[in-house]
Amino acid sequence: MPDPNGFLRYDRRLPARRPVPVRISDWREVYPPAGEELIREQATRCMDCGIPFCHDGCPLGNRIPDWNDLVRTGNWDAAVDSLHATNNFPEFTGRLCPAPCEAACVLGLGGQQPVTIKQVEVEIADAAVARDGLRPRPASVSTGRSVAVVGSGPAGLAAAQQLARAGHTVTVYERDDAIGGLLRYGIPDFKLEKQHIDKRLAQLTAEGVRFRTGVEVGVDVTAEQLRAGHDAVLLACGALQGRDTPETPGRALRGVHQAMAHLVAANRVVAAAGDGKPAPATLPDGTPIDAAGKHVVIIGGGDTAADCLGVAHRQGAAGVHQLDLYPEPPAERDAARDPWPTWPWVLRNYPAHEEGGERVFAVAVQEFVDDGTGQVRAVRIAEVTVEKVDGRRIVTALPGSEREIPADLVLLAIGFEGTEEQPLLAQFGVTRNGRGAIDSGPDWQATDGVFVAGDMHRGASLIVWAIAEGRAAAAAIHTYLGGVGDLPAPVDPARQPLAAR
Ligand SMILES: Cc1cc2nc3c(=O)[nH]c(=O)nc-3n(C[C@H](O)[C@H](O)[C@H](O)COP(=O)(O)OP(=O)(O)OC[C@H]3O[C@@H](n4cnc5c(N)ncnc54)[C@H](O)[C@@H]3O)c2cc1C
Ligand code: SF4
Repeated sequence: MPDPNGFLRYDRRLPARRPVPVRISDWREVYPPAGEELIREQATRCMDCGIPFCHDGCPLGNRIPDWNDLVRTGNWDAAVDSLHATNNFPEFTGRLCPAPCEAACVLGLGGQQPVTIKQVEVEIADAAVARDGLRPRPASVSTGRSVAVVGSGPAGLAAAQQLARAGHTVTVYERDDAIGGLLRYGIPDFKLEKQHIDKRLAQLTAEGVRFRTGVEVGVDVTAEQLRAGHDAVLLACGALQGRDTPETPGRALRGVHQAMAHLVAANRVVAAAGDGKPAPATLPDGTPIDAAGKHVVIIGGGDTAADCLGVAHRQGAAGVHQLDLYPEPPAERDAARDPWPTWPWVLRNYPAHEEGGERVFAVAVQEFVDDGTGQVRAVRIAEVTVEKVDGRRIVTALPGSEREIPADLVLLAIGFEGTEEQPLLAQFGVTRNGRGAIDSGPDWQATDGVFVAGDMHRGASLIVWAIAEGRAAAAAIHTYLGGVGDLPAPVDPARQPLAAR
């Protein structure tokens, strides 16, 4: 029986982050482990309200009140089992999820701070590793059926694990030199140390999943070959087509880059250093891309922009500005606009923001300014208002508001336009929809025997959605292959986040 008064006795508390001067001198994670006493106290704040809206907030349907109570009472093994029953990779979501479950926590209704669900989750996930090192759970019987998974991000990996555990032979094809999708070279180590991916991969490998890196499907292996060698194919290629701004004067100047170019180069440096092979941060063509000593301007306000900010500080930037088109959001939920339990539009302060830099809201870049040699030296910005008219975004610059911000390195973190146009699409006979994503039927099939999941299906989203879609697509593939029984399917292809509008 949960403690109905825990939230009255304890305030919401998170573990202290590592001090800024210490953490920006390395690439280690920002949060240290919480410690058992704190996490059991925080789990006690969950009153098991009876109708846990957090379940609906979480696309995976994580059994949050159940594992909160198991942690409260010190039943860690049972908590690990309960969490793994719905989530293949809680060590990823517990570190990286923005936690829509917390926005839907019933404590928020009464003006209380939500339970630290995500923190409890990561502590359970780490307890699993500490206790039995992620014990493999291989299938006892093989079905003799074979599945190709294209793309090794969280969607592809979740599907691969579900299908392998159901007895199917699974091969994951990844064009990169390492497995993990955006978790590997997109998201920096200070948010997710790569040892967590490697430990999970060891488990998947022991469960029979085969990995083929450096293989671009559509180029190195054709769709026809893949179809001939497997009974079903899952496409989980992500939504990696970065949005650009080709119409802005000066876009072609040296020093103006897509954010992902900067992040991937930086992550590769950290990976190489960990392997004992120090290397400078460069683009694939060898062009240096490093913020050391530079004035950096990051354009965009989301996860990617915050990650660039943290990287720039760790590389030793002289100064960083982060520009956002929209006005500064409110600090608290505006209930008229975003009523509980929906995801509110509020100012989100990532750990990277307390490390330095200046955020500038309601501005748009008018020009990237040339230093006379073809290298950017500044961005010229104007204050703007943004309106939606007939579904279209209208940005209006305020006359006389223009000014320059010094910039040696400009990073475009203005979103993604869906999955990349690549040979694989035509070979499988699928086309991008208006959002650049690949549509599927209600059974996740994009075309006969070819399924789609994750960002490639829903557009750039979150890890928790990628895992949920990977699990659901695996369930559909299992049925398609005539597998015995049902696998869990937490979402259907039309499922959207909780919203009031
Ligand atoms: C910088 C950044 C930070 C983020 N931070 C967060 C965060 O903090 N929290 C959060 O919840 N979400 C975050 N996200 C979003 C999250 O990473 C994605 O939603 C998630 O990774 C999508 O998973 P996926 O498996 O669908 O695709 P991806 O992770 O994109 O993986 C797709 C994989 O497919 C491979 N591939 C593509 N085409 C082929 C081919 N033809 N052959 C073989 N392989 C191919 C790619 O190389 C890639 O490895 C972030 C995204 C970015 C860009
Ligand atoms: S995966 Fe995300 S939404 Fe689900 S319980 Fe964990 S933090 Fe909450």
